[in-house]
Amino acid sequence: MRVLLIGSGGREHALAWKIAASPLLTKLYAAPGNPGIGREAELVTLDIDDHAAVARFCTEKKVDLVVVGPEGPLVAGIADDLRAENIRVFGPSKAAARLEGSKGFTKDLCAKYAIPTAAYGRFGDLASAKAYVEKTGAPIVIKADGLAAGKGVTVAMNLAEALAALDACFDGSFGQAGAEVVVEEFLTGEEASFFCLCDGVTALPFGSAQDHKRLSDGDVGPNTGGMGAYSPAPVMTPEMIDRTMREIVEPTMRGMADLGAPFSGVLFAGLMISGEGPKLIEYNTRFGDPECQVLMMRLKDDLLVLLNAAADGQLAHTSVRWRNEAALTVVIAARGYPGTPEKGSVIRGVEQAAGDGVEIFHAGTAIDSGALVANGGRVLGVTATGGTVGEAQRRAYAALDRIDWPQGFCRRDIGWQAVAREQAR
Ligand code: AMP
Repeated sequence: MRVLLIGSGGREHALAWKIAASPLLTKLYAAPGNPGIGREAELVTLDIDDHAAVARFCTEKKVDLVVVGPEGPLVAGIADDLRAENIRVFGPSKAAARLEGSKGFTKDLCAKYAIPTAAYGRFGDLASAKAYVEKTGAPIVIKADGLAAGKGVTVAMNLAEALAALDACFDGSFGQAGAEVVVEEFLTGEEASFFCLCDGVTALPFGSAQDHKRLSDGDVGPNTGGMGAYSPAPVMTPEMIDRTMREIVEPTMRGMADLGAPFSGVLFAGLMISGEGPKLIEYNTRFGDPECQVLMMRLKDDLLVLLNAAADGQLAHTSVRWRNEAALTVVIAARGYPGTPEKGSVIRGVEQAAGDGVEIFHAGTAIDSGALVANGGRVLGVTATGGTVGEAQRRAYAALDRIDWPQGFCRRDIGWQAVAREQAR
């Protein structure tokens, strides 16, 4: 098979690594990719926003399957435009990607199909949103409706914060994404990420993870794209997975089909697990990063077989097997992240640090005069497996400490909740 992978993060490096291991693969292209992905794939210069150009490339190179990593191109309709040219795609249509592209759309779907989630209101103007917030009180959660690069959510612990977040949405801080807001009830419990591969009809459970969104040890500091993750999530017991499938994922699949927008691709449910069971916080319509890195390390089966089955509507006849091991990723970021990261510093020792159950996935890296340099905020994902989360954690940090990059930083406590649970046993 000839495959084109779209994207350039740690998520796509992990996908490239796993796809490259498939006996079905004859050629892997990646656009735009990064130096790590370049070890697995031929990097091609393609304007991802120019869907006609991507389609021409696929036709010329006889690409059998396009795998779309990030949400941006999906929400922009790349899957529809490629399918219109008879090119097979793993990823949802524009209409199905509204599950990520519009929080209001998802909340309305939840209401219609009785999917457990936070109580909410949708508002298109500041005055009515403020009136609702003032009536409901804090803590309360304010969300820009559209894609806001992970910055559109404010968990407001008091009224002043909530009102300031509404002002920010409506004064254009998030562009068009903030023209509408969702105001939500504040949920408590333990968060978990749950993934399914979907083919329009069938959703196949595809693992769980927990991530660390805050910048600093102890889960404090500003929000980031994710400083680390581990899999599986201990709260996602077989019973909780079963409830999540029945109460959340399956009604969503039925609802999307009823709307004429059947969902195919990765359905990533952000969940809050409380005493009452799972509640949906949000959907994403692609893998998370770094969650994808831990999932790929644990996946026993051939990823390409599974992606084909999803693209062809064959998931009802497919199963998935996992290694009986935990996996854990520690992200190394460039100084300045999540503000303005410093670019260009040289990173040494990456190749030597990997091996023996440790993979180092590239995100924001580049090659400059033959040297590996930092070229983004989150730069590397050091990912290790182990018999327990604690063992995966020890191996990840041991590998990380062999990397010579004084301008990089990481958290030292990734996986702490799971490790504490293991020690309490
Ligand atoms: P989201 O982008 O919707 O995943 O929100 C980012 C983060 O905000 C989530 O991972 C949660 O930690 C938090 N969050 C979002 N919605 C709620 C909610 N209704 N109650 C409590 N926390 C929330």
